[in-house]
Amino acid sequence: MSGNAMKIVVAVVLFVAAGVMLVVLRSEQDAPALAEDAVMQDLVCTDCGHQFQLSYDNLQQALKAAPPVERPTGGSSAGRTRTSGRRPTPISCPQCNENTAFRAAFCKEHSQYYPAQLADGSRGACPDC
Ligand SMILES: [Zn+2]
Ligand SMILES: [Zn+2]
Repeated sequence: MSGNAMKIVVAVVLFVAAGVMLVVLRSEQDAPALAEDAVMQDLVCTDCGHQFQLSYDNLQQALKAAPPVERPTGGSSAGRTRTSGRRPTPISCPQCNENTAFRAAFCKEHSQYYPAQLADGSRGACPDC
């Protein structure tokens, strides 16, 4: 009888563990996918001015495919400069094929897209504002 009781305990533990894992996996996978996938990411090319959209997944792929942004080499974490902040990764523009497209912000006043962040890391601004 004690053997059966042990089996039941093991079964219950496994059942609970599986349930917990399922919940954890689900919360990890669903949260970002649902939130980001529905939103199209606006991009604008600083070279030819072409404005286009990518899904979140396509944007991540484009960012991975993009060449790494030049960073000052010297020291791992000690040589990090804090002045210009993080530089955005340029994305290949589908119109001119240059790596000069960036995430875009929208000016409601002028109905115009402009790069939210420029190549040097500074904030972009609507050219008409
Ligand atoms: Zn372009
Ligand atoms: Zn404006």
